[in-house]
Amino acid sequence: MLGLMQDWPLLLHRIIDHAAIQHGTREVVTRAVEDGTLRRRSYREIRSRALGVAKRLEREGIRQGDRVATLAWNSDRHLELWYGISGIGAITHTINPRLFPDQIAWIANHAEDRLVFLDLTFVPMIEALQEKLPGVARYVVLTDAAHMPQTSLRRAVAYEEWLAEADDDFAWAALDENTAAGLCYTSGTTGGPKGVLYSHRSNVLHALALAAPDYMNLSSRDTVMPVVPLFHANSWSLAYSTPMTGAKLVMPGARLDGASLHDLLEGEGVTMTAAVPTVWLGLLQHLEATGGRLSTLQRVVIGGSACPRAMTETFERKYGVTVAHAWGMTEMSPLGSFCSMKPVYERLSGDALYDLKVKQGHPPFTVEFRLTDDEGRDLPWDGRTFGRLKVRGPAVAGAYYRRDENILDDRGFFDTGDVATIDPAGYMQVTDRSKDVIKSGGEWISSIDLENLAIGHPDVAEAAVIGVAHPKWDERPLLVIVPKEGRAPGKDELLAFMTGKIAKWWLPDDVVLVEAIPHTATGKIQKTALREMFKDYRLP
Ligand code: ADP
Repeated sequence: MLGLMQDWPLLLHRIIDHAAIQHGTREVVTRAVEDGTLRRRSYREIRSRALGVAKRLEREGIRQGDRVATLAWNSDRHLELWYGISGIGAITHTINPRLFPDQIAWIANHAEDRLVFLDLTFVPMIEALQEKLPGVARYVVLTDAAHMPQTSLRRAVAYEEWLAEADDDFAWAALDENTAAGLCYTSGTTGGPKGVLYSHRSNVLHALALAAPDYMNLSSRDTVMPVVPLFHANSWSLAYSTPMTGAKLVMPGARLDGASLHDLLEGEGVTMTAAVPTVWLGLLQHLEATGGRLSTLQRVVIGGSACPRAMTETFERKYGVTVAHAWGMTEMSPLGSFCSMKPVYERLSGDALYDLKVKQGHPPFTVEFRLTDDEGRDLPWDGRTFGRLKVRGPAVAGAYYRRDENILDDRGFFDTGDVATIDPAGYMQVTDRSKDVIKSGGEWISSIDLENLAIGHPDVAEAAVIGVAHPKWDERPLLVIVPKEGRAPGKDELLAFMTGKIAKWWLPDDVVLVEAIPHTATGKIQKTALREMFKDYRLP
């Protein structure tokens, strides 16, 4: 027997409708890409402009299922584009502009993007690339007529001019909730990048699940600044969960340096923000140099790569800001777990608390975990046994876009490629990415644990650990350090600092100081590039 409740498909535009009706005057503040000034709109205006986008797209010939690309910073325009594109049943393909140009061409062609919306920043790069993008009919530059550059881009038009050709007298498409809404490619190590195709339903459920107190913890009284880009897997739900709750939204545009972020955090009264650890390194360095404070910020969500313990302690002890360590991946929309306190751990304090906070935490409803060995047998959740972490849920990829391969195990779980432990209270800790774990004499060493430890040294700005070939042990850990400005910690000093805090055989065999560590397009340490740099390195 079926229930007798109303049929109300979970569609993304219902979120912006709700924001406009219930929180219509709440602001969306953007740092303009053109000149860094602040632009203020309300949710009511964003909805009206998104309806304009939808109407204008239809006039442009875009139809349900068509892919429309964005190469854009976090801004009000990017947000209204998202709602407008999915509001006619088309698909927003967010392209990470930090990818290599050839990768961008590859994914834009694989996705068969028809229209490209791009920020001013990326005009020169796409001009150089457009010959490789024969399928793109038109480029819309996210600016107004006054700031429109001379450009060779095909049929280029300034966004504000383009949008002005339509009013908001438009009705959202009536869609099945399983209609595709967004497309995001994840950097594949083999066989090219892989497209993850989100649906209206998966994005709505992901945002609903994540807004709850143990996760993003959002309310209409918050002011939220997603520093994590919309092109980095749905900005971790914030482009949906923030309007859904009616919180004020602050979009940092192109300026993600410590000083600019601090200016927005303080100036706009931000209470909650989210980004990868590298972004917060920049902010903390800025605060240290200027003696700045964080007077309104209550919570910071840190994920995408392991949040070092020292970073958590600095935010919490020095600045009074609570850190929520989060883990996820593009294939999971992207969030899979948060390290918030269940009652069993509620009373932890001091070291014990920070020991727990290095864990990636527990999943929201809608994400199921499984821990298995290589043969697919379940492993115990004892906090010690590590194995393959597998996930299942309504916002987890079931297949890649236009790739004919089964990515699920016999019980329908997706293998994350992460090696992890799960403790009896359900808290997961990532030991390593399976390809980064260091295999020494048949045993595993967690590069994440070593990095976490090294970054706690007062002279260390950034740390990475990779395995380098060793004649006897297969691989041994090499610690690569970016020292803080004006400092040059010695190898013995660093190793002495780590001694006693880890098993003796985990201690790195050598330490190298470098000026910079390479990062991926999503701001993570690029282990492949580091391994390449040190492939001929001889350990002492
Ligand atoms: P990309 O490599 O293209 O950025 P993803 O953003 O999907 O792709 O990366 C997901 C991976 O990032 C996870 O499988 C995991 O290895 C790593 N990761 C994400 N969050 C964390 C975290 N909090 N701690 C450790 N690793 C993390």
